[in-house]
Amino acid sequence: MVFEKNSNKKVIVVGAGFSGMACAIKLLEAGYSNVTVYEKNANVGGTWETNKYPGLTCDVPAMSYTYSFERSPEFSRQYPAWQEIRAYCRNVSAKYDLNSYIQFNKEVAEADFLDNKWHIKTTDGESDIADVVIMATGVLRNLNYPDIPGMGDFAGDLVHTGKWDESLNLKGKRVGVIGNGATCTQLVPAIIDEVASLELFQRTAHWVAPFIGGNPDVSESQRQALRDDPQRMQDTANRMLKSIEKMVDGILVDTTGQTTANLKQQCMDRLGEIKDPDLRAKLTPDYKPGCKRFIWSETFYPAMQKENAHLVTEGIESIEPKGIRTADGKLHEMDVLILATGYRMHDYMRPMKIRGEAGVLLDDVWDDGEFALRGVAIPEFPNMFMIMGPNSPLTNFSVIEVAEWQIGYFMPLIEQILSGEFLSVQASAEATKIFNDKLIASMPDTIWASGCNSYYLDKNGNPNVWPDTVASYRESMKTADMKEFVVRWEDRESKVS
Ligand code: NAP
Repeated sequence: MVFEKNSNKKVIVVGAGFSGMACAIKLLEAGYSNVTVYEKNANVGGTWETNKYPGLTCDVPAMSYTYSFERSPEFSRQYPAWQEIRAYCRNVSAKYDLNSYIQFNKEVAEADFLDNKWHIKTTDGESDIADVVIMATGVLRNLNYPDIPGMGDFAGDLVHTGKWDESLNLKGKRVGVIGNGATCTQLVPAIIDEVASLELFQRTAHWVAPFIGGNPDVSESQRQALRDDPQRMQDTANRMLKSIEKMVDGILVDTTGQTTANLKQQCMDRLGEIKDPDLRAKLTPDYKPGCKRFIWSETFYPAMQKENAHLVTEGIESIEPKGIRTADGKLHEMDVLILATGYRMHDYMRPMKIRGEAGVLLDDVWDDGEFALRGVAIPEFPNMFMIMGPNSPLTNFSVIEVAEWQIGYFMPLIEQILSGEFLSVQASAEATKIFNDKLIASMPDTIWASGCNSYYLDKNGNPNVWPDTVASYRESMKTADMKEFVVRWEDRESKVS
């Protein structure tokens, strides 16, 4: 049946990062212009707008880190600096005139489902009402400040990489860095030559592999050739995605273990180049490769071998006005302390207070751990969809691809609400339980549950990721199975089988 499009009904999208932008574009393309996007930052791009620490680089080949409908050859390198990803986001936003739909500097604080509408309140006290709400808040949003005694006592400059202070002058300073994930491995090589000394406080070594295919410059003539031949550009991006997919699948489900063995060998080769055996031993992980997200860097180990770089593996006991006190009693004095400690990945839309049917609070629903139906919908929260929600494939694959599949999956449901065909639609509690029971049952056999501590694990120790191939998730996003949803019409409700 074909329904009239009804643009009187309204959609609110929370977040104008990659996901929220894609969602707004798809809604506009489908003919629904009654869309408001709320964005807490002053511009689009989400994590690429807020992050600007030295060395920040896209660690996915940039051509594939673009929308499938908006490939771009305008990157100077295979893995370019953050400014180029930010420029891409801003250019796409301008091309689709998204800025006229976005309310910038507006953070949504509350969302309440009342009388079949979503009532939104922003932190500055304004309110809005919509028929559908899309939560595109991303996972790299709530900074993780480590709970170390004395954190507030440090007398020098303290900065989190996710909230970088561009006026911070590191030249000639004694710098301490806590955390050695992807952020740290980009930051350290970028600052090592200007600081007087750098102490890196490492809790767990990470597996660091060289960039796939190196990081070659893309010349102007290469870019022009791609501009002239959009199909070639699309094919190139698709090839890159295929090879990432093969690697991600290989780490997870390759029963021969060949993919992981190859990656491990590449990491070991790089570790083997470290001259100091003590440093090499400390940088060598003691858990299976792939258990934490792989890190790509060509420059981290060389930077850590510079004379002014020091790796500290004694545990941190406390922070004092002059620096960090480690478990061996030593005080490491410093002028600047940098927290490269990442994000609280399981917070999802929090601290927003979201109340669904009968006022049920999402914080209570998720009290025992976050869950969703296929990463996009939650029972008791009708007409609300998430992008990159719980168990979305988040590993080394491109989140932009995943976001597009998720949007494609729930868009027909949204269209039914906007057309007036559905009063409401929500994930069925039974289907969600079956789905999650299956996920949880398959997790113990995955690489993520093989004995490391990582941000993939939720507070119950369950990996909150997709435990199967990328293709299987893509397949599951092709069409929503209406048996997994409860639909309400004006006069009736669908029966859940
Ligand atoms: P991260 O991967 O979560 O790493 C945080 C680091 O901080 C870990 O080394 C962790 O140690 C350490 N840490 C946390 N709490 C600590 C504590 N209390 N005491 C001591 N150490 C502590 O964070 P990230 O490197 O900022 O990366 C965040 C996300 O952004 C990741 O998904 C990453 O892949 C992504 N990222 C992507 C790009 C890109 O180019 N696409 C670039 C940068 C980051 P343990 O390992 O022991 O927990």
